[in-house]
Amino acid sequence: MSKYQIDENGFFGQYGGAYVPEILYKCVTELQQAYRPILESEEFQREYRALLKDYVGRPSPLYHARRMSEKYGCRLYLKREDLNHTGAHKINNTIGQILLARAMGKTRIIAETGAGQHGVATATVCALMGMKCEIFMGKTDVDRQHANVERMKMLGATVHPVTTGNMTLSDACSAAIRDWCCHPKDTFYLVGSTMGPHPYPDIVARLQSIISEEIRQQLEEKTGRNYPDYLIACIGGGSNAAGTIWHYLDDTRVKIYLAEAGGEGIDTDRTAATIHCGTEGIIHGARTLVMQTDDGQIREAFTVSAGLDYPGIGPMHAWLAQLGRTNVLAVNDDEALAAGYELTRMEGIIPAIESAHAIAALKKINFRPEDIVVLTVSGRGDKDIPTYLNHKNLAKNL
Ligand SMILES: *Cc1c(COP(=O)(O)O)cnc(C)c1O
Repeated sequence: MSKYQIDENGFFGQYGGAYVPEILYKCVTELQQAYRPILESEEFQREYRALLKDYVGRPSPLYHARRMSEKYGCRLYLKREDLNHTGAHKINNTIGQILLARAMGKTRIIAETGAGQHGVATATVCALMGMKCEIFMGKTDVDRQHANVERMKMLGATVHPVTTGNMTLSDACSAAIRDWCCHPKDTFYLVGSTMGPHPYPDIVARLQSIISEEIRQQLEEKTGRNYPDYLIACIGGGSNAAGTIWHYLDDTRVKIYLAEAGGEGIDTDRTAATIHCGTEGIIHGARTLVMQTDDGQIREAFTVSAGLDYPGIGPMHAWLAQLGRTNVLAVNDDEALAAGYELTRMEGIIPAIESAHAIAALKKINFRPEDIVVLTVSGRGDKDIPTYLNHKNLAKNL
């Protein structure tokens, strides 16, 4: 068993585990025992892969970005998760978890959402499967992500605005966990990233690992070699990053760079760079790095990117960074926005601002011309046009 994967107790080194209230102990144990046999069953795999192909539109293309390659002096390939149904990688996970929920006999789905992307991906698969869907979303986010709230409602979900705390993602997670405590029998909590109590980080990473499974095959076809020299992804809770690196973790030929959201800078209070600025603690059921005050109160995260706005980090990534397997860079708001404009003008691809953090990492790495670099574009930027327009000045020099 790889030292980079979860151990039999649900830990990555000292990180992970399942720190849940007594009342959820039974649900979490039930899920821990059920998920591997279901995910590995032939029936699950057949349906999961058929939906990924015909509903999501996989495999997502691996695109050789020629102009950007020339600019950065390497052979740059973009893994196009932005082309998936609903516009990002999140659907890979929600398709898998809804099949898991159904196999476990659950009838009611709950989920948390920040920007609304995971809420939309969850409401989408609930419509697909005819399941009841309740989404918890901080009231601040409900007010500023109006389009996604309407999409969720149109898909048949009930959206619960959460008015505790800062009324953002972290509070929505807490509200979802409270609801789960009240309905432990019929409800499945569909978690949106590699976070939460064991086994969620492992479930989500496995479901997203389709990304690196495809990269291996597509690189072989395009370059005659099934591994890159570099993998690059952005990291919020860590799910698109986990999927991008999963099949390469034990391959030391592959260097891994992950971009977390620096916000206004890691030397300011307005940041979401948890691996740089966090300390060990417990958040939403897992021991991991957390941005917290000296007396253990969770600090609010700040970044221009709603999808990276989380004061914790998946326990797997806390561990990989500590082992030095991954190199984590903090990318600030202005760097990410400028990189988003650059990809738009040089390749005709408007990336999500989350993904633009990964693009900005290209400037911080020294490549050799023959290096093969695979960068995951986790989502498309349609949802971010107003934010890009607020920073038009960053496109001036392109
Ligand atoms: C939600 C989101 C992210 C961040 O989530 P991870 O779990 O870290 O992948 C990144 N990119 C996009 C487009 C998203 O919607």
